[in-house]
Amino acid sequence: MGEPLYRRVVIKVSGESFAGGQSFGIDQPTIDRIAVDLIAAQKLGVEVAVVVGGGNIFRGVEVSSRGVSRPTGDSMGMLATVMNCLALEAAIERHAVPARTLSAMVMPQVCELFTRAAAHKYLSEGRIVLLAGGTGNPFFTTDTTAVLRAAEIGASAVLKATNVDGVYSADPKKDPNATRFERLSHSQAVEGNYKVMDATAFALARETSLPIIVFSIAEPGSIGAILTGTGRGTIVAG
Ligand code: UDP
Repeated sequence: MGEPLYRRVVIKVSGESFAGGQSFGIDQPTIDRIAVDLIAAQKLGVEVAVVVGGGNIFRGVEVSSRGVSRPTGDSMGMLATVMNCLALEAAIERHAVPARTLSAMVMPQVCELFTRAAAHKYLSEGRIVLLAGGTGNPFFTTDTTAVLRAAEIGASAVLKATNVDGVYSADPKKDPNATRFERLSHSQAVEGNYKVMDATAFALARETSLPIIVFSIAEPGSIGAILTGTGRGTIVAG
């Protein structure tokens, strides 16, 4: 693989991708493969921070449709992201690579609180930093968290790992005429209302001039390929 295009990145991994082919929970072989991919990406010489979603366990919107208030449902969703981060941290450390979970919510018995200083310190020490708990606020998503944290810690790109290989004009699983975009501007991404990532995340990326690369994590090695410019995905920038 060639030289990496970025020095520090935030990689967003959805909770859904932790479930493997299942609809709920953590599939251990899948999480192990993601850990191996993240380690390989870091070995390219890139400082890697990871925002993990929680949709494989709880999503606030879904919980709130069952009689729990939305903010409470969102708290459950944010706690789900902490569980996923702890599982990923363990998977990375099984390969003798140091990782550290930093949470947006205070839980000293479980993991350290996210601060920019802690993130800078651990990234420069060569740890993979896992960012848990979303933004710490209800009504946001972990996509938005990824852009927010990237801006806060001075990352040069957000890599949005998902189960499709980019942004499409429509859902490629439902519409055979859906076409994949090679490149989109931030404004086109906001206005297009594409389902792959929420508009708040694209708008914040526009505000902070952060490129977002949307790609599929299904193939082993896909993170490294995106980092070296040889992968397949949609670049949202400019
Ligand atoms: N969440 C939240 N605030 C945040 C980030 C996440 O309230 O800043 C909650 C929200 O309920 C969301 C859940 O955590 O549905 C899981 O996050 P997300 O849906 O982004 O996970 P993913 O779809 O990536 O697995």
